[in-house]
Amino acid sequence: MPHVIVQNCCNDASCVPECPVDCIHPTPDEPDYATAEMLYIDPDVCIDCGACIDACPVSAITTDYELTAEMAPFEAMNADYYAAVGSAADRDHSFTDPRIGRRRPSSDAETLSVAVVGAGAAGHYVVSELQHRIDVRATIDVYERLPEPGGLVRFGVAPDHAETKKVQEQFASSRAQSGVTTHLGVRVGEDVSAAELSAAHHAVVYAVGSLHGRDLGLPGADLPGVTAAADFVAWYNGHPDFAGLAPDLGHERVVVLGNGNVALDVARILTADPETFAGTDMTDEALSALRSSQVREVVVLARRGPGHAAFTAPELVGLARTVPVVVEPGDLDDDGDEPTAAQARYYRAQKVELLRSLPAAGSAPDGRRVVLRFGTTPTAVAASDGGLTVAFDDHGAPSELACGLVLPSIGLKGTSVPGVPYDEATGTIPNADGRVLGPDGAVLPGVYVAGWCKRGPTGVIGTNRFDARGTVDALIADFHAGVLSAPSAE
Ligand code: NAP
Repeated sequence: MPHVIVQNCCNDASCVPECPVDCIHPTPDEPDYATAEMLYIDPDVCIDCGACIDACPVSAITTDYELTAEMAPFEAMNADYYAAVGSAADRDHSFTDPRIGRRRPSSDAETLSVAVVGAGAAGHYVVSELQHRIDVRATIDVYERLPEPGGLVRFGVAPDHAETKKVQEQFASSRAQSGVTTHLGVRVGEDVSAAELSAAHHAVVYAVGSLHGRDLGLPGADLPGVTAAADFVAWYNGHPDFAGLAPDLGHERVVVLGNGNVALDVARILTADPETFAGTDMTDEALSALRSSQVREVVVLARRGPGHAAFTAPELVGLARTVPVVVEPGDLDDDGDEPTAAQARYYRAQKVELLRSLPAAGSAPDGRRVVLRFGTTPTAVAASDGGLTVAFDDHGAPSELACGLVLPSIGLKGTSVPGVPYDEATGTIPNADGRVLGPDGAVLPGVYVAGWCKRGPTGVIGTNRFDARGTVDALIADFHAGVLSAPSAE
């Protein structure tokens, strides 16, 4: 009775070192980890000990005999992964805790003082890494501009993904430890300057995430009714910056541009039974708007073919469990070259197979459905008949769709912090392995970056844990090397 990892896997790999038989992969030290959609348990190697269940912060592991019908596809997904990439028994890896072998500082050693800007996942993992390092004693000030911590876990993760949001309990217990002070509602760059923060600490780590949608850059992109999917997500989750958004849900069709996990999230929110969201983080205003919504069809337009879909398989499974998802068979001809890496080949074949299992037509009794389109590149948005028309290239031929709302979901970009370098083109803070670079390309001593504002908006929540570890490694190495200036007296 092997164990199975299901949809809400956060990839933070807490389970990996707990497994006595190394049956959970890819591990953070394996090359496939960076692009893994989730972690997988090899059913042929698992000894059913349950150690992983206790370690998982988001309750994403269960035994195969306890799988619900909804989670049943994940049993095959865990097994198929190893059929495609090779058995866990043949892996030659040595994922050990990098803290092992480090020496404790002597009791009179200087205490490291760190400010962490941002109380989302990236900031949490920086705090947690600092707390777990035995070669340094640290005091940590966490600064968060919102009155509530959690970042995109609170304001980005979909309200119906309650298990995923449970990772916030881990965040809270880190912040509750001695040596950590959390300052909510403080805007770095306005209430306190970046220079003041640097002067008061040995180091400042910027973990400010990627809140905003990337610019669409098409004619009509500024029309009312064209709303970044990221803004729509923040609105229904109650982010104070987006309280007045009031998206128009008075038309039957919504068009989403791009097909990443954010696109599937908004498609699901718009077509699911609104009562699913009662009692969640969704605001009363959003819930009421969804209850009176006229939206029946969400069309998701993707530029490339099914094998290149940006969504992850667990999220497609979750969407299809909630609402009828249809795909025209003609859209399903795979495109492009076959990837060479086994994991990439597996993901591509898996997506195509999952998409082929979906119907070509149909809807829920009340007409609700999601339509996935491929080979469709948007070219313009125009106002028409009280709504909007999206023009797009459909496999080389011009086409268009009428709708009431267009949600570009084409990736995210960071937020610039006054006094901190920022690269507009990539939406990130320029850095070398977490050390922030000044305009001349030289390292700014004592200034670091972690998470999406360091590497761009890729991966899932737990991916930030190992990203933070890299930044903390650099910071502590600099501290021990005497590169960091001592905090000035307050
Ligand atoms: P994403 O995964 O990067 O997907 C972006 C999509 O936009 C792609 O389909 C891309 O197509 C398309 N696109 C980019 N530029 C475009 C343009 N100019 N015109 C039309 N289409 C364009 O972004 P995301 O959905 O915002 O997700 C960001 C990260 O958050 C991802 O790592 C995601 O997995 C994560 N996330 C995870 C969850 C979850 O686990 N439940 C939920 C939400 C978000 P091309 O491929 O053709 O470039």
